[in-house]
Amino acid sequence: MKFSSTELERYDRQIRIKGLGKSGQSKLKKARVMVAGAGGLGCPTSIYLVAAGVGHVAIVDKDAVELSNLNRQILHWSNDVGKSKSVSTIKKLRQLNPEVKVEAIPKAITSDNARKLVKAFTVVVDGLDRWSTRFLLNKACVEEKIPFVHAGVYSLYGQITTVLPGKSPCLQCIMPKPPPEEEKFPVLGATAGTLGLLEALETIKIITGLGEPLVGRMLHFDGETMSFQEIRVERRQGCPVCGSL
Ligand SMILES: [Zn+2]
Repeated sequence: MKFSSTELERYDRQIRIKGLGKSGQSKLKKARVMVAGAGGLGCPTSIYLVAAGVGHVAIVDKDAVELSNLNRQILHWSNDVGKSKSVSTIKKLRQLNPEVKVEAIPKAITSDNARKLVKAFTVVVDGLDRWSTRFLLNKACVEEKIPFVHAGVYSLYGQITTVLPGKSPCLQCIMPKPPPEEEKFPVLGATAGTLGLLEALETIKIITGLGEPLVGRMLHFDGETMSFQEIRVERRQGCPVCGSL
């Protein structure tokens, strides 16, 4: 894949990374990433994916911006309150990097459309805040065999793992039942930002083949003590989602 001189200059510092180079940059340019949710996780994830030159980034979110989102959903600013989140997100992303395609998909993810939505993408990123929707997305990604990067945050805590369908445990192997939903749970913006950026890094690694993704490993972040803990996770025999793979 050819790069223009402005692209080569824009991505110069990462092309210098051993194991990434121009071939990794080409993989990024060809990649299509779906970010599910333009919230506390999806905003930082999408900024860094677009900055890194991922060729096509789609932002799926049906909601409008609320004032109480602004402590953590950093692509939405004060004058965006009331506007569509996916549209607010792509407006900023286009200014950051006009070399890549960014797309707003202002839709809810449902059991009817999940498979169709994820189908066209190289990697799907979980930037959601509802477990029921996460489980739908996990299932759709397993069925379409698309890598799925999961993260979740609560207060000063977060967790992240990568699902490679058929190779690693899926979300439902790790959590056979979705945890109870909580409306308006506490979140510090910097916690969501930390996990969102780890998701961006995982996504870039999966696309380029750089390093070792969090496969079969769940990384827990504790912002209170500023520590990370890694937990081994395994595939569950008879998992209703990925058991037949
Ligand atoms: Zn499973």
